[in-house]
Order: sequence, then C-alpha cells, then structure tokens
Amino acid sequence: MSLCAAPQGGASPLPSFWEFTAPTAWRSVDFISDLHLQPDHPRTFRAFAAHLRDTPADAVFILGDLFEAWVGDDMRHEGFEAEVTEVLRDAGSRLNLAFMAGNRDFLVGSEWLRDCGAMALPDPTVLLACGERLLLTHGDALCLEDTAYQNFRAGVRTEHWRAGFLARPLPERRALAAQMRKASQQHQRDQRPENWADIDVGAAVRWMHEAGTPLLVHGHTHRPGTQELAPGFTRAVLSDWELDGSPPRAEVLRLSRQGLQRIALPQPA
Ligand code: MN
Repeated sequence: MSLCAAPQGGASPLPSFWEFTAPTAWRSVDFISDLHLQPDHPRTFRAFAAHLRDTPADAVFILGDLFEAWVGDDMRHEGFEAEVTEVLRDAGSRLNLAFMAGNRDFLVGSEWLRDCGAMALPDPTVLLACGERLLLTHGDALCLEDTAYQNFRAGVRTEHWRAGFLARPLPERRALAAQMRKASQQHQRDQRPENWADIDVGAAVRWMHEAGTPLLVHGHTHRPGTQELAPGFTRAVLSDWELDGSPPRAEVLRLSRQGLQRIALPQPA
C-alpha cells in the first residue's frame, strides 16, 4: 500500500516488545538485512565478508533475510552455508553479532546462532544504544495488506509446523523451499512494483507508540529510504544487497551518537 492509503492496522494484535540495552561501551551499531545470500551471487557474499572484516562498528545487527533460503541448521555443515557460517564465526569472535529472522530464514535455530556466536533477536526488538531508543523489525509482520501471506506466516511459525518440516530429510526440505520460492517469485512478477506490499502505516505507528520509540528500522521491502509515518514517528528502511545484478546496491545503516547514517558499500572486484 502507499503511504497515503488509510491505515488498516487498528485491529491487528500488538506483539510483545523485547528490550535489549546495549553496553555503554558500544560506539556504533551496523544494521543490515535482505542480503539474500546464495551460492550463485558470489559478489554479494564477498561484500558481506569484507564488511564484517572491516567495519569499525562494535556490533552488527542482521535484521532478517541474510539467506535466500534456510531450511534447517543442519545446512551449516556443507558447501556455501558452511562458508557463510565460517565468516560469521570469525566475525563473532571480534564483534557483537545479533540476528533477527526474516521470512526467508525464519528456520534459523539456536545451533547455528551458537556456532556463529550471534545473539537471537525476537521480532520486534526495542534497542537502546548510543543514546537512542529504536524499534527493530524485519518488516514482513507489518505487511498486513497481504492477507494470504499473513495466513501463511502464522501457519509456518507454529512449533507444530516447524517440527514437522525439520523432521523431513534435508534434500526434501531444499526441494520444498525451491518450490515455494518459485511460487513467490511468480507472485511478485504478476504485480506491478508500485503494488508491492509496504508496511501498514497505522500498525507501525501503533507499534512505535506502544514501544515508546520514535524510530523504526526495518528491511524486507527492498525500498531503502527514510520517511516520517506520523508526526514524531520516523521509519528507516534498510537496503537489500544485490552486487551480482544491476543496478548493484549494498548499504549499511549505522547508528552512533551522531544518529543514523547510510553507508553505501563499494562493489568488490
Ligand atoms: Mn523479507
């Protein structure tokens, strides 16, 4: 929906707002999301590895869809996923890592997080850091207009569905995920870009009001920008990362005592 449409979030239930207070020693925090890491996008992966190696930030908060697909923590032992895990494990020994699940990688579990040395962030999370109070969410839970997706989301986020899916053999899970991705890509192609779902403004403002935060940081929509949703309530949308396609793009949102700053990343060779 556009920002001008009438808010529809009035009746949606409020989530609980978990709070995390950063250590006062943290001078800056990087927010990234929607890298959609996959084996055939090697430049995006290299830029991610380089960023984790070079960032001056004290913490990197990943706000969902780090992976194009994650079908269980047993993926971490092989191939591309093992490489990504190794890069995070190395970064986790030097930096504070935090991970919030997106719609592509909601099956990330505690085993993978432990291997990476990353803290799990519930969606949403209130972060107190660098003198600011921010609300962090991946974003898909606020895209209320897509009721078919919200029904799907509610179904797959139950413990029952999760346990049943994870009990299947890994090759079968990979095949099912590929099928689901194909269907979702087709769904996206059938819609005009201006009709792609955005977060529900009314619900977002209610969340921020309830959480006592003037600032919402989210990803998911792949439309980076900063807008005032209502007087005193601002949202900053994270960029997706796509360095193997055109136009190439990758951006980090950095929080420091100076506030939020967008940092465009150089494209690796
Ligand atoms: Mn997403």
